[in-house]
Amino acid sequence: MNYPKVIAVDFDGCLCVNKWPEIGDPNWNAIHTLLDHKSDGGKVILWTCREGQMLEDAIMWCLNHGLKFDAVNDNLPENKEYFGNNCRKVWANEYWDDKAVPVAAYDCPIAGRIIEIKEKPEPERKSFLQKIKEWLRE
Ligand SMILES: [Mg+2]
Repeated sequence: MNYPKVIAVDFDGCLCVNKWPEIGDPNWNAIHTLLDHKSDGGKVILWTCREGQMLEDAIMWCLNHGLKFDAVNDNLPENKEYFGNNCRKVWANEYWDDKAVPVAAYDCPIAGRIIEIKEKPEPERKSFLQKIKEWLRE
């Protein structure tokens, strides 16, 4: 199955400078990258906490900047059909968010911590009898 790459993108702080609840200046680098991605057959999902009128404003702002989404805070229709569900986490190949931490990157603090934890030896496991003996000595 030739499946298109899916990018889920945040609005505030990604597609525009974060001035929530207002809309900041456009991040043209992100917008043009997504437009190129769509031209190559990729899909883009708007993935934002905005709701109601603020969400409508964001969608219209994006349309006015040439960006039309394949889904908004929702999985792609073809994914819902393929998987037979619509889980709360939007499925994508990439998630673009100004609050994201790149855990896959080796130089990221979280990845470093995970490696550090793995390199530590297992804590010594004391038998129940040893614990009782120590407790009796105290
Ligand atoms: Mg954001």
